[in-house]
Amino acid sequence: MKVVPVRGKIPDKNDRTAVAEMFSGINGEGLKQGAPATFIRFAGCNLSCEWCDTKWANDDDCPALYLTPDEIYFYALDKGLSNVTLTGGEPLLALHFSEILRKFADDPFFSSEIETNGSIPLDYIRRSGEKISFTVDCKLPSSGMSDRIVYKNFGLLGKRDCVKFVVGSADDLEQTAAIIKDYSLAKRTNIFLSPVYGVMNPEEIADFIVNNALDARLGLQLHKIIWGDRRRK
Ligand code: SF4
Repeated sequence: MKVVPVRGKIPDKNDRTAVAEMFSGINGEGLKQGAPATFIRFAGCNLSCEWCDTKWANDDDCPALYLTPDEIYFYALDKGLSNVTLTGGEPLLALHFSEILRKFADDPFFSSEIETNGSIPLDYIRRSGEKISFTVDCKLPSSGMSDRIVYKNFGLLGKRDCVKFVVGSADDLEQTAAIIKDYSLAKRTNIFLSPVYGVMNPEEIADFIVNNALDARLGLQLHKIIWGDRRRK
């Protein structure tokens, strides 16, 4: 597995999308865990989570490449993998994101997934009929960003999507169970509970899921298990 980081600045930033890195690898989490995919990581995020493991991609001086929608699309096409994951940072804030998404959605070869932090309304994408999947974070108290979640997004999700709770404390677990119940999440979509890497013991989450009979899955970050902190995704 070879990571191909996209680094370095190019002079012409005008009207181009800042991309922190692009590479092909194994999907570490979510519904396509274990499957090969091409990752496009857009630079920049509107949140500042306590345990963010991609802070470098959110910094103002992130050494991004500035690309056109065509350049991003053809990069993924060249990789030859049908799965493409649009991530960040927060991809929905990326310049020309709708146009980029359209390119992937209009090409029947691609199966596209958007990883979003849950703070951006998803109506405009879902209602436009794009055939894409969402992995939506639901930020919990230990992240410091739980007040930024747009809960009405849950009503737009279906079985091709998932909600991911990244759990960093026992209080987070209790909050997760309450949210799943309050929003009838298990009836709507797929649910993953993942530990904050190196902070939360997966066993505690597994026991909580079982003991509370949650209709949810334990999600371990496969890429961290395989590559540790050497891999960014
Ligand atoms: S939303 Fe994601 S990328 Fe943004 S600060 Fe939080 S963990 Fe980092």
